[in-house]
Parts: sequence; structure tokens; C-alpha cells
Amino acid sequence: MRSDVLAFDTSAPAARPGPAPRRISIFGATGSIGESTVDLVLRAGGPAAYHTVAVTGARNIARLAEIAIALRAEVAVTADPAGLAALRAALAGTGIEAAAGEAALVEAACRPADWIMSGIVGFAGLAPGLAALAQGTTLALANKESLVTAGPLLLETAARHGARILPVDSEHSAVFQALVGEEMTAVERVIITASGGAFRDWPLDRLAGASVAEASSHPNWDMGQRITIDSASMFNKALEVIETREYFGFEPAQIEVLVHPESMVHALVGFRDGALMAHLGAPDMRHAIGYALNWPDRADLPVARLDLAAIGRLSFAAPDPARYPALALAREVMAIRGAAGAVFNAAKEAALDGFIEGRVRFTGMATVVERVLARMSAGSGLGNVAFSLDNLSEADREARALAREEIAARADV
Ligand code: NDP
Repeated sequence: MRSDVLAFDTSAPAARPGPAPRRISIFGATGSIGESTVDLVLRAGGPAAYHTVAVTGARNIARLAEIAIALRAEVAVTADPAGLAALRAALAGTGIEAAAGEAALVEAACRPADWIMSGIVGFAGLAPGLAALAQGTTLALANKESLVTAGPLLLETAARHGARILPVDSEHSAVFQALVGEEMTAVERVIITASGGAFRDWPLDRLAGASVAEASSHPNWDMGQRITIDSASMFNKALEVIETREYFGFEPAQIEVLVHPESMVHALVGFRDGALMAHLGAPDMRHAIGYALNWPDRADLPVARLDLAAIGRLSFAAPDPARYPALALAREVMAIRGAAGAVFNAAKEAALDGFIEGRVRFTGMATVVERVLARMSAGSGLGNVAFSLDNLSEADREARALAREEIAARADV
């Protein structure tokens, strides 16, 4: 077992929901993960079952207010200070507090809660996630960027404050579930699956011309736009490989990726005796979210049941490195470590912004990330940067600036 943070032992938590409703907060409530969480909470009885402390969003003020009212939250926070007046107006007369800005997000994360969903997208999820862990809560972590940029910092913070991190990414939830009752030393390898995204079957020479609309349509999962595009490029899987390493502590060589177009096997864990434990489920994030929400119990969840006889066959293939260069970049990041994860994530986010805004080709995103990583790791001791929020924020800022420079200066991306 790696640390107290990773509790595959289902007998570990002594605290069970008592007569008082469990206190929860949902960060990124207006997003795809957030909405699925809200759905599960409402189906479980909403305010009768859970006391909602905080809900947060950014641009979608009207929906944030609706969620806050439906869950009878104590406070609703928008990341965008320009939205505060509208949020206040939408919540007038409800008794729900309104707040805005990064500091308000962190303050909301410090409000005592038993379970907090980290469903903000991007690096912005890190500071509230750290604040949540520092109050010793259980953090359901969807925000994979936190682990990629600051894995050791998150795990150390959790361990120091007696907090717990439960994985919400479907692959990591699957690995977590396959490990219940197992010793980490018995694990030989871990295989996380990837659908292959929107362009799995496209001829390679068409990829450079792929449009944002084409990249934003996922064959199996209904997710936010950014993660859907990241699935097409496999930057999402690259983040997940690093996330697997950071969360579970596996060596990079133990982590494999397998293309599985049906998205029904989410991950497999291979043990020393040759056994391979697979986790199967319908491609619906409410499974992983519901598992984290009810852990260590299992609750009835409104997800489709797999009919394997009707499905008939499942297929698997090795990922093509020419189609998915992001996977090799993830290996480079794991070899460097230190602030390389922060650089990788920030350059990826900036390249993705460039693609969405029409300034970078689909295939140019990997080129931008590769160049930023090369520039920042050249003799700079990137691997030795100590994990602190300040250092990682600095690496994040520098990588974004370099990525924007690469995009502006080079015609070949
Ligand atoms: P969405 O884009 O759908 O939602 C993101 C959420 O974060 C929204 O509530 C958004 O508010 C809020 N937000 C956006 N920018 C900021 C900011 N700067 N500061 C604070 N909040 C902000 O993303 P997803 O739900 O798809 O993904 C959330 C996280 O979960 C990501 O890290 C993703 O990688 C991970 N994940 C997602 C999966 C999925 O199925 N969607 C699966 C596994 C992991 P608003 O909408 O109001 O602007």
C-alpha cells in the first residue's frame, strides 16, 4: 500500500454517514462532471440526503444559481469576478451567499465538508484542491491536471492532514476498484484503455486539417469540449498515464495504453501470477462519480447495464505512435518529473486554446508541447524543481508564454 491516502482496504474509513446529512461541495458544478454529480445528488434526495456547502462555476452564472438553489447550498462561487453582480441578482432572496474570484474559490474549499468534488477544468483546479485537502476532507478528484502538475504535493498535503483522495477519472476509478483488497507489491502492470477518439480511423494525412467541430465529437463519451478534443489527440490519455503514475506510484514501464474503441473496459490490472482483472461498465461518468460519492459502499446508480451477449465482441489494439505523439511526450515528462508535468499541462492547455481559436492545426498541438518541453528542460534543472504551488504556478506561466510564442512565431504549427 502506497500511503494512507490510497485506501484499497475497504474497512479503512471509520466515519460512516451519521444522522446528520453528509456535507458536500461541488467544484466545477456547471461542467460535465459537475452536472453528473449534481444529478446523482438530486436523485439521492438532494437537500434531504446531503447538506451542500459550496457549489462553484465560472462563466455559466444562470446555471450555477439554479444548482445552488436546487441543492440549497450555503454559498455559490463563480471564478469570474465579472459575474458576481449577476450571481447576486440570481440568488437574491434565497439566503445563499454569492462570491467570486480565485480567493473565494479557495475560501469555499476551506469550508468544512465531508466530501468535495474537484471538477474544475485545468490548472485552476489545483489551489482549491489543495485547500480542500488541507481541511482533511475526502476529495473526489476529477481534475487530473492537479495530479499531473503537482502529484507529490497533493499526496503529501493529503497525508499531512489526514485527507483522502478518491479517483474519479473512469480509468483510475477502475484501477482503484480492481485493487481493493490487493497488495500493491502483487501488481505487475496496469493497462488503461483509450477509445482512440474522433480520428481513430482517419487517414494520418487528414489529421492536420481536422476542424474543432470534428475534434469535439466523441464516439462514446459525452464530455466537456476540451477533454473531448484531448481524447482525439490522446493528450487526455497522456495526462492519464502521468496521473496513474502519480496517484498509484507505478513505474512508467508498468503503465500501458490500449486502444479499445467500445470504451467498456476502462482499465485492467495485471498481477504477478498472470491474472488480469478488468473493470467493465457503460461509458457514463456517473459510475465513477457515484463510486467515489458512496465509497466504500456501492449504491444503486442510474447507469446502463452492459449486455455482453448483445455487444458480442470487444476489440483492442496498440496505439499508433504516429497518430498519438502525446503518449511519447508523457513518457518524457515522467522521465524528467519535477515541474515537467506542470510544463506539459500548461503547454497543452495553451496549444488547445490555440486550436480552438483557429491558430494551431490539430497536429500542431503536439509540436507546440514538444518544443516548449524541450526549451524548458534544456539545462534548466526542470526535474529538480521543488513541488510548491508558487514554483508550479511559475512553471505554468512560463510554459504558457512559451507556447503562445511558438504559436505566434512558427508557421508550421
Ligand atoms: P467542463 O469544461 O465541462 O467544466 C469545467 C468546470 O470548471 C465548469 O464548472 C466551469 O465553469 C469551471 N471552470 C472553467 N474555468 C474555470 C476557472 N478558471 N476557474 C474555476 N472554474 C472554472 O469540464 P469537464 O467537466 O469535462 O472536466 C472537469 C475536469 O474533470 C477536468 O479536469 C477533466 O479532465 C476531468 N474529467 C472529465 C471527464 C468528463 O467526462 N467530462 C472524465 C474524467 C475527468 P463554467 O462552465 O460555468 O464556465
